[in-house]
Order: sequence, then C-alpha cells, then structure tokens
Amino acid sequence: MKLFKMNLTKKIFIALVLGILFGIVSNLLLPKGVNISVNKWVLTPVGSIFFNLIKMVVVPLVFFSLICGSASIGDTKKLGRVSGKIISFYLATTSFAVVIGLFFANILKPGVGIVIPTNAVVETTKPPFIMDIFVNMVPSNPFDALVKGDMLQIIVFAIFVGVTISIIGEPVKPLLNICNQLNEVFLKIIGTVMKLAPYGVFALIAKVISLQGLDILMSLLKLIGVVYLALIVHCLVTYFGSLKLIGHLNPITFFKKFWPVMVFGFSTSSSSATIPVNLDACENKLGVKGSIASFTIPLGATINMDGTAIMQGVGAIFIAQVYGIELNLTSQMMIILSATLASIGTAGVPGAGTIMLSMVVTQVGLPIEGIALILAVDRILDMGRTVLNITGDAVGTCLVAKSEKELDVDIFNSDDSDDSSVTANI
Ligand code: ASP
Repeated sequence: MKLFKMNLTKKIFIALVLGILFGIVSNLLLPKGVNISVNKWVLTPVGSIFFNLIKMVVVPLVFFSLICGSASIGDTKKLGRVSGKIISFYLATTSFAVVIGLFFANILKPGVGIVIPTNAVVETTKPPFIMDIFVNMVPSNPFDALVKGDMLQIIVFAIFVGVTISIIGEPVKPLLNICNQLNEVFLKIIGTVMKLAPYGVFALIAKVISLQGLDILMSLLKLIGVVYLALIVHCLVTYFGSLKLIGHLNPITFFKKFWPVMVFGFSTSSSSATIPVNLDACENKLGVKGSIASFTIPLGATINMDGTAIMQGVGAIFIAQVYGIELNLTSQMMIILSATLASIGTAGVPGAGTIMLSMVVTQVGLPIEGIALILAVDRILDMGRTVLNITGDAVGTCLVAKSEKELDVDIFNSDDSDDSSVTANI
C-alpha cells in the first residue's frame, strides 16, 4: 500500500490540503448543527490532544537542551557574542517587518470602505511596561517558571545551570550526561508524537475553516490579503535575501527542508508549540549545532515575532482607515516602535498578538473597538503570521551558526529534502 509507505512530510501536506477541503465543505454544505457536532465530538478533541502532546514536551525539552547547549558552548564570551548577534538580528528584522507592513497598508488601504462596528466589545489588556519584560526575565523561583512555562525565565535559568556545569567541569560530568540523556528522551518523544501529526494537522485546520464565518471573511478579504502579502514579501526579501547575501546559503534548500515546520506552525498557530519541531529541523536537517539552536530557537519563539509585528502594524493602519483618522509620519514611526515592542511581549500562543495589538492602538490614540473587526478573522491571520515568526527564528539561527562556524554546510546542502525533518529522530 503506497499510502502507508509515504513519508511523513507528504502525509502532513496531504492532511493540510484535506483539512482545508473538509473545512470548506463542512462550512458550506453541512447543516449548522451537524457542523458544530463534528467539531465538538471529533475535530476539537483530536486537535487538542495532538496540540497538548506537543506542548507536553516543550518545557522539558527547552530546559534540558539549553542546559546541554550552554554547557557545551562553555565560554561565556561566546555566549555573549551569540546573544548579541541573534538579538540584533531579531530586532532589526522585526522593525523592518513593520515597515513592510505599513508600506502595503498605506498603499492598498484595506480599511477604506469598512463599516465601523457599533456594538463592539473588546477585552483590553493593559499594555505592559516595557522594562518589566526585562526585569521579569530573571526568575525569582525557577520551579514556578517551569510550571508556568515562562520561556524567558526558563532560558535564563537553564543558561545559568549549563554555564555553571561547564565551569565546575569534571565533578559534575555525570549530571551533564543525565541532561543529555533526558534531552534525547524528549526528542524521541517528539518523534513519536509527530507520527500523529497528519491527524492533528487535519483536525486543527478543518476546525478553523469549518467554524469561520464566511461573510466576515469576504468583507475583510482585503485586510487578509494585505497581511499575507506583507508576510510573503518579508519572507522572500528579508529572510531569503539575508540567507543568500549574509550567510551565502541557498534559500531554496532552506525552504525545501523547512516547509514541514511551516505547515506545523500554520496549523497550530503557536510558535511555542513549534519549538520542538523547529529545533529538530535546525539541528538534523539544516546542520546547526545544538549548542546554538537550543538557545536561539526558544529565544526566538518568545521574542522574535515578525509576522505578529506585521499584523500589528497593518492592524493599526487598518483601524485608522476604518475610522477615517489620518496618521502623520510621527504616528507611523510610533507604530513601528510600539509594534516592535508589542511583538516582543507577545506570547507564542494562538491569538496573543491581537491582544497585544491593544498596546499599539492605545499608544497611537486609535479607537480600541476597531480591534473587534480584526478579531473576527484573527485565526486566519494568526496561521500566516506564526509561519513567519518561526521561519525568522530558523533563519536567524542558521545565520548566527554560520558566522560562528557552528553550521555544518554539508548537512545543510545535503539532498534529503524528501525525508521529513520531523522524522529525523524516529
Ligand atoms: N500565534 C502567534 C505565535 O505563536 C502569536 C500571535 O498571536 O501573533 O507565534
């Protein structure tokens, strides 16, 4: 039976297409009650079980792989240099992403002609004080950070443990071995869970599409189009351009090996849940040493969200256009700054970016009710922006690894794109 021999990557892709088709058919043809029951009894449980299985591994995997990674970098100067490079890449690309978003939103005007919502109720979150993001990076209780899954705090704590292990050296070698073995175990679990990915991807996508209100989708088609256009342009120009020009790496090779991770980000809408798959692809398919990827990928999944920043930039302009408010150059500069900061503060979970959009909108003095309009199609936007978010993490990781001579170019260029990155550990 050919189907059963098919590799996992192909199965995931077919599941994505079938999920979209099923969602459309279910939305358009099934009676509403049946559609809701299919979602309640089948799609939601299957999707959630798969999503939780992946999330189950995120915290322990990040923790142990980062301990092993920072213990093997050993030298704190190198750690500082790697941090400097990756954070600069993340910040520069994020602000550039907002500029691209603003460019298209100003030219294509997605908000013009949209009717202002009258009875919109938007839950607002108080914009976080930006310095708090830095202060809160240091955990006062690391166990609390692990329980809550606070990624930045986990990163800081794991680096401390890893570096200290390398400083003490020989006496704690057995401890490092245990961390390495636990790391292996969690990677293996991910490999096993990924065998269920076709079912999970199908259920997650079919659910989103079948429950999406089609009239709202049609009325906001222009907004969706502008956001996706900016996402694609940023990916092609900024990411593929920098891979080629800065890293002297072939972007097509990168894409061929990375797209299963993109499908995964698309269907889960969560950078955080994509960490294990992204880590696996970077290390096993793109040839990045674990010492770099184990640090840059979880960090990127937490602070580097170019897709989110694009949506927040476009979203702010969209709201201004809906309400007929002119934004001068200073306000647009303000949007670039606040969308960059808001995206850093956005958690890598579905829908978080739109909540943080309230920070951008209040900063520029726009009516917060406008967010209600965007919320109606948020999941569709979220799928695309999450793909860009996780792609940026992997591109930055490859570039930094290349500059540190921690990227095995032979593995990067090897012709195994037919095999899935997520199957590498199975
Ligand atoms: N879902 C996005 C992510 O996990 C965050 C967002 O809502 O923009 O990367």
